[in-house]
Amino acid sequence: MTPDDSARTAPYAAPPPAGDPDLRGRTALVTGAASGIGRACALRLAAAGATVRALDRDAGKLDALAAGQPRAPGGEGGLRTEVLDLTDLEAAERAAAGADILVNNAGLQLVRPIEEFPGDVFHTVLTVMLEAPFRLIKGALPHMYASGWGRIVNISSVHGLRASPYKAAYVAAKHGLEGLSKTAALEGAPHGVTSNCVNPAYVRTPLVERQIADQAAAHGIPPERVVSEIMLADSALKRLLEPAEVAEAVAYLCSPQASFVTGTSLALDGGWTAH
Ligand code: NAD
Repeated sequence: MTPDDSARTAPYAAPPPAGDPDLRGRTALVTGAASGIGRACALRLAAAGATVRALDRDAGKLDALAAGQPRAPGGEGGLRTEVLDLTDLEAAERAAAGADILVNNAGLQLVRPIEEFPGDVFHTVLTVMLEAPFRLIKGALPHMYASGWGRIVNISSVHGLRASPYKAAYVAAKHGLEGLSKTAALEGAPHGVTSNCVNPAYVRTPLVERQIADQAAAHGIPPERVVSEIMLADSALKRLLEPAEVAEAVAYLCSPQASFVTGTSLALDGGWTAH
């Protein structure tokens, strides 16, 4: 190795042996934290010692999440809630200031053929699931760069890597999120900031329960056949994923052991993209 090579090589300090990630002293902002995957991520990161800011537009569900979540003595760790609708992009950017960990999770779905897809819904999906993550990353980076450490985890989907019919807005937003995540990885690398996507197949959450009727109508089959014939059709593993399994992958990406993992897309897809 020449002296020049050495100067270009980032220093590597061995992290502690793999185990439960220790996120004490880190502040994590999780969007869409009142339900499903976001809720599981908020609880998992709080369990790892992070101070979690659980953000959602649904105040009632945030209250339910906060109930029974004790704050650690001294104000460190624990979970606090923030009500915000991410379609307010200026507020979203401001809300991200000071986060060490950003989990871009909030999302919504509408299943309709393109010729029937309402333009305003397409716009809202792209705003919440692509433009808001951009503004949140933009708002979070100054603090992350100043401290030389940051973790951005974008909850993408197998639909960030593959399309399905009748999900034009969702597939477009998730494919865009993949590009945003990779760009943040390249820009963040010199500053100790990683950015990754997590790509689940169908997860047992209210978002999936709500789309069963829509999928049945779009595909012309009874609702009771949607899970086996549509949702699990391309998955080698024939079950729904659990929110806690996604949260475990997110916790790993936030851990010291994952410091070299950036710009990637971690598929939790039961073998879907192996086809
Ligand atoms: P969910 O409906 O259970 O939760 C989504 C949360 O986002 C809700 O609490 C909702 O209030 C919040 N939200 C929506 N719009 C918002 C806005 N404008 N401002 C603030 N909060 C808003 O859904 P989920 O299944 O947990 O999905 C979470 C993420 O995981 C989404 O990005 C989704 O695309 C992704 N995902 C889900 C699945 C799945 O099968 N459930 C699979 C792959 C990826």
